[in-house]
Amino acid sequence: MPRGLSRDEWLHALPRALVAGFVKTDKEFQSKGQTSGTTATFVIIDGWTITVASVGDSRCILDAQGGAVSLLTVDHRLEENVEERERVTASGGEVGRLSVVGGAEIGPLRCWPGGLCLSRSIGDIDVGEFIVPVPYVKQVKLSNAGGRLIIASDGIWDALSSEAAAKCCRGLPAELAAKQVVKEALRTRGLKDDTTCIVVDIIPPDQTIRHPSPPKKINKLKSLIFRKKAKDQTNKLTKQLSAVGMVEELFEEGSAMLSERLGSDSSGRRTSSSLFTCAICQVDLEPSEGISVHAGSIFSSSSKPWEGPFLCSDCRDKKDAMEGKRPSGVKVL
Ligand SMILES: [Zn+2]
Repeated sequence: MPRGLSRDEWLHALPRALVAGFVKTDKEFQSKGQTSGTTATFVIIDGWTITVASVGDSRCILDAQGGAVSLLTVDHRLEENVEERERVTASGGEVGRLSVVGGAEIGPLRCWPGGLCLSRSIGDIDVGEFIVPVPYVKQVKLSNAGGRLIIASDGIWDALSSEAAAKCCRGLPAELAAKQVVKEALRTRGLKDDTTCIVVDIIPPDQTIRHPSPPKKINKLKSLIFRKKAKDQTNKLTKQLSAVGMVEELFEEGSAMLSERLGSDSSGRRTSSSLFTCAICQVDLEPSEGISVHAGSIFSSSSKPWEGPFLCSDCRDKKDAMEGKRPSGVKVL
């Protein structure tokens, strides 16, 4: 947490900081000439607040106490995401399937050059810059009953739905749960792709570990009887039960446009001693160097192009290349 920020201010600043961090990491891959890229699912847990930033198709799901399963990421797959297909095409990429001899088209939709079936990733420099590292970010607040996070790569999600993954490991401690999810995925589909899973339980500090029990017929019957009795006895208990598992959504944004994601610097708060800092790579800028993230964009009529946040010329080049406004700025050393 940067000095001078309260916990709430820090949580509020996280979505922007994560966008900058993902783009900065991608630039570092490029500067090192790394050609093999990666999906990324980044999870920050602060008390009951969970912030997830992701590119690619490695999902993070939340199994809240009470049994509601929700997705904290989106899949950046060209096949399933019309909006991303349109963005890639508008930025100079071509979207199509692999053609084999005879003209038949096979497999999922991919972008060309490169042939990647994802529309966002980090470090895929052998594909066009329209494959951007700008993450989808979601921030939620759990009820104090806690919940379970399941973070896994595409080999899991090609085999299991979110609900199936959550259900198959209920009642198990986190480490065994992760193994169980992998086992279940392999059982249904075999090992075809990267099949990695991490399970994190967020547990109230004043309670002993309490795992939701696996759905057994006897348990179901018992709970039916219990619920009926409880309802008869007191309304208060029913209210408490329904409050369990409530998840409050604090933030959600998935746009690929940096001018939208880095926003306007309206807080007036600066975490650096310098007056101007690049919003992505954090280098100090001379007042004459900084280029507003809004400069030349279609948003400049509503946002002022002389207002921050500012980018250094290198990051401005990166932004333009991502938006298809200039040829890829890749410099392999
Ligand atoms: Zn920069």
